[in-house]
Formats: sequence, structure tokens, C-alpha cells
Amino acid sequence: MNKKSLKCLLITMFAMLVLAACSSNEKSENESSNATDKREKLQIVTTYSIVYDIVKNVGGDLVEIHSLAPIGSNPHEYDPLPADVQKTTDADAVFYNGLNLEAGNSWFNKLMETAGKSGEDAPVFRMSEGVDAMYLTTKGNKGEEDPHAWLDVRNGIKYAENARDGLIKVDPENADIYKKNAKDYIGKLEKLHEEAVEQFKTIPEEERVLVTSEGAFKYFSEAYGFKAEYIWEINQENQGTPDQITRIVDIIKDKKIKGLFLETSIDPRSMEAVSAETDVPIKGKVFTDSLGRPGEDGDTYIKMMEWNIKTILEGLSN
Ligand SMILES: [Zn+2]
Repeated sequence: MNKKSLKCLLITMFAMLVLAACSSNEKSENESSNATDKREKLQIVTTYSIVYDIVKNVGGDLVEIHSLAPIGSNPHEYDPLPADVQKTTDADAVFYNGLNLEAGNSWFNKLMETAGKSGEDAPVFRMSEGVDAMYLTTKGNKGEEDPHAWLDVRNGIKYAENARDGLIKVDPENADIYKKNAKDYIGKLEKLHEEAVEQFKTIPEEERVLVTSEGAFKYFSEAYGFKAEYIWEINQENQGTPDQITRIVDIIKDKKIKGLFLETSIDPRSMEAVSAETDVPIKGKVFTDSLGRPGEDGDTYIKMMEWNIKTILEGLSN
């Protein structure tokens, strides 16, 4: 190789290197701008679908949410997957129900510890903060709160306020957006609550008895003038034992109840047995611990409450 061709080769190699460097620069710029887009959204973890929907309504386009217990499942007990642990570790904020909901097997507390979010200053927000807690009756232990506060829409409003305050705490720059979203959403919830109160007045008081599998309707019953009856008290105890079935069958026969209701997230067999034993029909499905699947009935908190209100009204009307 003569001097001239060596020079040419070197120039060519240099040019290739420059080109390669340019194209790899471009690539990494693109990659990092994609990553920035993703990071620009606040990364949120919620424990189940109802909290997911309320936080989504307040966070809007500013948040990207990973929800833990899948739709249709029971958030009282959940086994986090490795991906859940990773997302919780990376999350800017975690929102959970509290009031003993995520207490089965202490799964939530364990997850927060594993994900490094158990400290006092950790961005972990309880949606039921400020709710007047009701208590499980038969367990008799103090501190045994009934978790199903969201079934009273007035508590749903508190959840929305807590979602707003939590988001503002971790993302104060966008406070005005969270405040506006929360205000619009709370307006809808207030209307829903007032309509429900009016509609239920059409059912005579003595006929306002709600029978479900789990005793999830304490808060609902207090808000809308019902008496709540159930087969078992909460989804983490023995469920549908012969004693529990006998107890509710006696209550139903005694009260001349018109209809029973079956939760979407619960095995139907116990309620079917109660219906067969008492000749009282199951009048419809109700949503308690989970929303419906996207695109199906009850796929938002507002829609699940509208569904419950309508189903109970029709089921207990003549
Ligand atoms: Zn429940």
C-alpha cells in the first residue's frame, strides 16, 4: 500500500467513525427523549381497581398507573408478582385503601417494605384518610375496621380529595390541574349521591334490607337507609360455612326479604344455596371489591355505583 492510498483509507475510516458516532448520538437522543416522555408522567401504583379509577380521574393525563389486584379479584388478599415489586419500587407514589382492606397475609405492608416504601416519609397515601370508620361486628377486636367505605359515595368524595392531596404532594408543579380535575370529578360524585338518596326513598323503609355474600354494605346501608345482612362478614374469614348459611336463612325467612344480591368478585355457590333454601331469588349482581372489566358493566367507580343503585332499586321494588 502506497502513502496515498493509506491516507485515503485513513480518511475513509475517519469519516465512517464520524458517521457512526453521529448516528449513535441521534439514536441515544431519541431513546432518552422517549424515556423522558415516559418519566414525565407520574408513575403511580394503586392496590386495586376502584382506587385506580379514582386516582386516574384526578391525575388525568399526568399519571401512568399500575394497579395491583386485578379486576374481578379480591384485594383483601393478593400475592404481588415480581413486576409489581419492581413497579412499586420505581413508583413516585402509592395509593391504597387502608381500613384493613389490604390486610390479608399482611401483603401490602410486606410489599411496601420490600419496595423501600415503608418509611414515614414514603409517598404512600391512604385513600380512606378522614373517613368515619365502621367496625366489623362479630370479631369484637378493637381496630377491626370494615374496609368497604367507598360504597358510600360521600366517602368516594373523600377518596378523591385524598388522591388530589397526594398527587399535589409528589407533583406540586401541577397542583392547579389536580385541583381542577378533582373539583369536576367531585361534582359528579355529589350529584350521584344526592340522586341515590332520592331514589331509595321510593322503597318502604322496612323493605330496605340488603342481603349479600360478604358484609360489604355497612357504609352503603348507613348512607342510603338500608339494613345490611350477609353470609360472612369479610372475605378473609371462613366463607359460607353451614352455620353461616343457617344463620342467614333464618334471617331471610324471618324478614320476608324480596331479593338477594351477588357480588361480582365472589364465588356464587353460597348465595345460590341460600336462594335455593329460602326460595328468595337472586335479583342481580353488585360490584363491591372490584370494578367491571373495561368496556363492560361497572367499569368505573361512578358506573359501578350507578349499577348497584339501579340493581338494588329494581330488585327491591314491587
Ligand atoms: Zn370486600
